Amino acid sequence: MRIGILGSGQLGRMLALAAHPLGHQVVVLGPKAHDPAMAVAEAIVAPFDDDSAIDELASRVDVVTYEFENVPAAAIARIALRVPVRPPRIALETGADRLAEKSMFRSLGIETAPFAAVDDEASLATAVRSIGLPAILKTRRLGYDGKGQRLLRTEADVPPAFASLGSVPCILEGLVRFDRELSIVGARGIDGSVVTYDVVENQHEHGILHVTRCPARAVPEAALAKARGAIEALLTRLDYVGVLAVELFLLGDRVLANEIAPRVHNSGHHTIEGAETSQFENHVRAITGAPLGSSRSIGASAMVNLVGRLPDLPRVLAIPGAHLHVYGKAERAGRKIGHVTVRATDDAERDLRLADMLALDHWSV
Ligand code: AMP
Repeated sequence: MRIGILGSGQLGRMLALAAHPLGHQVVVLGPKAHDPAMAVAEAIVAPFDDDSAIDELASRVDVVTYEFENVPAAAIARIALRVPVRPPRIALETGADRLAEKSMFRSLGIETAPFAAVDDEASLATAVRSIGLPAILKTRRLGYDGKGQRLLRTEADVPPAFASLGSVPCILEGLVRFDRELSIVGARGIDGSVVTYDVVENQHEHGILHVTRCPARAVPEAALAKARGAIEALLTRLDYVGVLAVELFLLGDRVLANEIAPRVHNSGHHTIEGAETSQFENHVRAITGAPLGSSRSIGASAMVNLVGRLPDLPRVLAIPGAHLHVYGKAERAGRKIGHVTVRATDDAERDLRLADMLALDHWSV
């Protein structure tokens, strides 16, 4: 088949690299000629609001997917008139609006941090009274990697925080004293079949994912079951096709859903070497109507994002079980320019190899 991808970053690149061995051709639409996906696919270089570029993409492919959440709704609507867009638009729209997202969790009985809608100063005051402080004020839209949010510790923080976010519609969330951050990635096929990957544990640095461990260490079985139940319920509710990720907070044996990503996810990159079928391949299988592949883990693995500056690459490759992915982006502080997955036979060996990798890391934000 011919697959169109909206977005030309590293996720698009890894999707294209997974699509080629399955016999598919890939056309990527993105704004910059030297973006990571452009080197491994047919490229249409144009902004996402360029109607003629959107029409060209639709005319050249059988199905369209996307690799980031903030694709303009108009572009998706225009494509959907001509070819199927997978995952469905409802997932993109819900994932792009924190209030709709949290409300969906609640309606499915999936636990979340306490939250309330904030539209103006009056509703902000009401929300602060009902949620209490400390709390986090987040813009409903266009937030990612910790951007578009403010921590409110005291009453004095409240008005300036809302003003500094541009007084746009927000949600206020109670601050969760979580033990650790987890996520789960799963896929649903056109026939409704579902696979879920092992629950992973994520460590962030300055709001950016630094390390993912698969499987997560010492998580109570009850919490793992809740994580699986949550993603299965979401995949069904959204009549989803493709890969979905759910970010979670672990609190004892409770898991609180924080957000969904209706796409392949950074906390699933280890599945390229650490699972029977990678998240990228399963996304491609799902959107092309093929049967899904096994999501079973192969040993234990850990993924380290390379942010800002690349480490000494030959030394990385000398670590047993290390797999390097460089995205072809220029080095710049705070930018994800590659990742390394270390794979091992068990958690203990994984953590030793991870320590060797972290000793070489030049994280720069
Ligand atoms: P988000 O943009 O919602 O993914 O949030 C970015 C990061 O902020 C998360 O990975 C958490 O580390 C932290 N965070 C977000 N919401 C909460 C919350 N309600 N309580 C505590 N920490 C949070």
